[in-house]
Order: sequence, then structure tokens, then C-alpha cells
Amino acid sequence: MRECFELQDTDAGGRLGELTVPRAGVTVETPALLPVINPNLDTISPRRLADEFGAEILITNSYIIYNTDDVRERALSEGLHDMFDFPGAIMTDSGSFQLSEYGEITVTTEEILQFQADIGSDIGTPVDIPTPPDVSRERAAEELETTKDRLEIADGVDVGDMLINAPVQGSTHPDLREAAARHADSTGLDVFPVGAVVPLMNDYRYDDMIDVVAAAKRGLGADAPVHLFGAGHPMMFALAVAMGCDLFDSAAYALYARDDRYLTVRGTQHLEDIEYFPCSCPVCSTHEPADVRALPDQQREETLAAHNLHVTFGEIRRIKQAIRAGNLLELVEQRARAHPTMLDGYRTLLDHADQLEASDPVSKGAFFYTSHESARRPEVLRHRRRLERLSVPDSLFLTEGDGDGPAEYDDSWRVKPPFGPFPRALSKSYPLTAEVPTRVDRGALEAAAAGITRLVESNPDSEFGVGHLDWPAGALEALPDSVETIDLTESHRS
Ligand SMILES: [Zn+2]
Repeated sequence: MRECFELQDTDAGGRLGELTVPRAGVTVETPALLPVINPNLDTISPRRLADEFGAEILITNSYIIYNTDDVRERALSEGLHDMFDFPGAIMTDSGSFQLSEYGEITVTTEEILQFQADIGSDIGTPVDIPTPPDVSRERAAEELETTKDRLEIADGVDVGDMLINAPVQGSTHPDLREAAARHADSTGLDVFPVGAVVPLMNDYRYDDMIDVVAAAKRGLGADAPVHLFGAGHPMMFALAVAMGCDLFDSAAYALYARDDRYLTVRGTQHLEDIEYFPCSCPVCSTHEPADVRALPDQQREETLAAHNLHVTFGEIRRIKQAIRAGNLLELVEQRARAHPTMLDGYRTLLDHADQLEASDPVSKGAFFYTSHESARRPEVLRHRRRLERLSVPDSLFLTEGDGDGPAEYDDSWRVKPPFGPFPRALSKSYPLTAEVPTRVDRGALEAAAAGITRLVESNPDSEFGVGHLDWPAGALEALPDSVETIDLTESHRS
């Protein structure tokens, strides 16, 4: 068991956890946001990040510090915590990003890790190779070998109680990502950034992002804290958390502010297009958009950055509460409606329902069916699997109606879309207590038909009848031929 990370609660693939950072003497609650601090310019001071926004951890770039003489000297003599005046944990990146942008950097993994330890970093990073999306399998595999070597070197460097990141690469090749994750997990390293996903997010490829994270998660143990490296837009946090990401870093709050862009959980707006602020943070409740537009450049940037941070931390809190309450997927469904590419991301998440099912709690507060995608949730899948293990009589009537059905059947079970059939005794247990709209959609009916089919196929010696309320031909055709169907609509109404 990895000592630095402890899970407190789960929902779908999402986790509430505690990351213990021994060198800083702090425990960071996850999901957590790490604001990115540029050592050469801070839009919002680290002290303010801690005091005003509740930041427990931040991230800065050790390679920039290393290459800026005066900053390097200060960092070495004062240490990062004093230099930034930040009481929480500090993670440092290694310059791998600079490597991917400019082709080469001038330090080795040993040197930069030792440097990170010397300046007082709490979580350091080796120099990995961030292989971009869509490259050939050959290139991705070759670069991955280099990353693996660097991780093994990092594992052997003595940096005291500084934790070390073990980045997971592999481009958009799921098998390579999974193998990379399995290797990283087998080292003695501590935190697992999923690397080089920024180009996917910049292109709104949330579906591919989810596939990449899902592959990495398959190779990592449940006790591995996962950092979605470079992901800072609050719009996609809920989706990424549901797939199992625990840490996010945001440079977005400052970069977007510099361009007069205003973050919301539904996307980004330009300050000049906003007539009313859709937010009640301290900035938005005391300013009109026109007031902010009239501010001098630097003050406007700082004001927007403060709002951007408020909305970003607010979404992290909302996600934590959703995990606690067991309605994270309801939140993901809402967020998925903000942009068609987010919907692609959510639909891809549901392609991995099998994988999510492993960490999804057996019982939660409530299941709200709010879109046809709900029919593909892990709870529905789990119920369908459970049907294989239930014992059934020689003949069984499965019905959406309240009555027992025709007398020739030994017993009757209820049918509830999207789950399908179940013994009446289970009616009050999760997820069969789900709130489903009265106007059932086709996705729910087809899922219910799949549940019935699973039960029928698991019990080839029993006879089944189905009483339904006006199911369309598509759902009825999905049932096995051996099943007798009766439309109960008339008798149900009377
Ligand atoms: Zn605001």
C-alpha cells in the first residue's frame, strides 16, 4: 500500500482522498487544484492563494528557476516556501514541457531532481519525454523506453522525504499508456501525472482524453494518486474526476485573465461579451462587467484571475461534495451539456462503465435518470450482472405493472427501466430506487430489455413472460424470441 495516499470515499471512478506530503508536513485533500506559479511573475501571490482561496498545494517550474540566475540564488538560499511565502505543499515540474516545446534541455534527471530537493520542493519531477498525441506507435514506444529509464533513475536518487512524480506517457496508444502506468506503478515513486494531454484538451478532444486516462488507470493501483497534467479548465474537472483523476494544475486562471477571458463551469466567455456576471464570487458580487472592463491592464488581469480562481476552486468543492453525496455522475451529466465535445467525453466515459464499476459504491443516496446516457451508467451494468446470480422459479412473469400477472406463472418480478427485472423484495434497495422520468425514453427501455435478456439467457430451463407498457417495436425486438409479451397499457389505465 502506498503510504502517501489514502482514499476516503469513491463515486464512479472519482475519489475523495488524502495526499500526505511529508516534506511539507501537510495533508492535501483531493481532488485538489494546484495553481501554477510562474516564478518570474505572479498575478496572484502564493500567500493570497493560501489565505483567500484555500490553496493547499501549488506547482512551479524548477527548470525556469534553474535557468533564471537571481531566482535560482534566492530559491537555493531561502527555499521555495520562504521565497513564495506559501505554507502549503509545493510541487515542482522538471522542464519536460520546455523539452517538448524547444527540443532540448540542458540538465539530467539526477541534476534537476537534486536541484528540486535543494530548493525545498515537496514533490519533484524527473525529466520525462512528453510524447504528443497521434504519433506513430513506434515513436511513442521508443520515447516511452526513455521515460521508463528516467523513472528508474529517479527511483534511485536520494532526495530524502521529497515525493517524486512518475509521469505516465504513451501518446494516444492505449496499450502503451497502460503498460507505462503499470511500469510507473511498479517503481517506488509516489504521484502519477498523466502526461502530454494538453494538446487533446486544446483541441476539445475530451473523448480521446478519457480513453488515455482510462488506459493509464488500468495500469495503476487504486492507491495511486493521479494528476491530469496541464488540465486547468473547471468545465472538465467533473468528467476527469469521474474517470479517476485526483490532481489538476491551473495556469488557465492567469493565462485566460491576461486575454480578458472569464472562466465558467460551462466554458469560457470574453469579458467584452458579458453584460451580467453569472457568478456570485467576491469579484462578481462587487463589480459590474463594465467596471472590470474600465480597469487598468494589470488590475483588470488580477481581478479576472481572482474570479477565475474562485470559479475553479468552487467547482473542486462541488465535485468533492458530489462524491460525498454519491451524485458525481449527475454532475458530470450536467457538465456534459455545456458543449458537444464534453458530451463526447461523457459518452466515452460510459464506454468504460465496466472499469468504473469496480470503484463505484454498491449503495448511494439516489440515482437520477436525467438523460438517455444514464442508461449506460455502471449501476445499470452491475444490476444486469447481478441478474445472472439470482435464482428463478420454473416460470416467471416480468412486469412493469403493479399486479401479479397471469395465473399460469409461478411468480412475478418487477421491471423498471433502465435496469430491467428484479424480485420485488429488492424494490427498496439502490439503485432500483432510482428516480426515472414518467416519459421513459428508448435508451432506458432498450437497457431494460437487455436486462431481461440477460436473465432469460442465464436460465434456459425457465419460462418467461413480459408485461410492458406500450414498448416500441425496437425494445420488444431486443427480447429473446422465447419470451411471451403482453401490452398492459389498457389494464394499467383502468
Ligand atoms: Zn466570479
